[in-house]
Amino acid sequence: MKNLIKNLVVVISLSPAVFLLGSCNKNEDTVVTEASATEKSTLEEESLTFCCNLDSLPLETLSQAETDALLLMREEELLARDVYTRLYTVYSMPVFNNISKSEQQHTDVILRLLNRYNLADPAANHQPGIFVNQDLQALYTSLVAQGEISRIEALKVGATIEDLDIRDLMDLVEEVDNQDILMVFANLTKGSRNHLRSFSKLLLRSGVTYVPQFISPELYQWIITTPHERGCVNG
Ligand code: ZN
Ligand code: ZN
Repeated sequence: MKNLIKNLVVVISLSPAVFLLGSCNKNEDTVVTEASATEKSTLEEESLTFCCNLDSLPLETLSQAETDALLLMREEELLARDVYTRLYTVYSMPVFNNISKSEQQHTDVILRLLNRYNLADPAANHQPGIFVNQDLQALYTSLVAQGEISRIEALKVGATIEDLDIRDLMDLVEEVDNQDILMVFANLTKGSRNHLRSFSKLLLRSGVTYVPQFISPELYQWIITTPHERGCVNG
């Protein structure tokens, strides 16, 4: 997964053209900047019903792989939050505001797991845009630079973050067997699928087709052709 992050940094820094794929649209002004009422209410609903009742699950032995996964995801969710917050200040597009709030919940639930297992929080002194994990630091810098190019590029950055998040969480789950972590990761992945649906839809409305870089084309097609997922995933 570390490699995935590195790969993304390389992709962004070496071949920005990849992000122009499908970008046949010249009318940046036509980018839909408003999330629909449905999207907004779904995000609000998600915030009210966040799913992970950790107390109902046993405290199991934590493996090194599980420890590493929690430490990484704590900051990876913060990276998503910080990129979206930054892009919201640039473009005032509601989708970035809405989804940054969701990412705050994602990183908060990872913090609950860190506390549950008495692990030190790598983001205890977090400042927006500053990361302990240097791969994430490089990724943040690249993504913000791309996102500041235009509204379309900003939406592609959103899709890219969710694409990577889904792939990372799917990979991490392979190394996890603790029930509480599995439940959290399943719900984070569901959240990322919903976020990817939102970014993909906004891009499509502007005539841009996002090309997945981390998940398979088949999984991407399934995600964007199925409705927003509501409620909780139970492990
Ligand atoms: Zn997230
Ligand atoms: Zn997300």
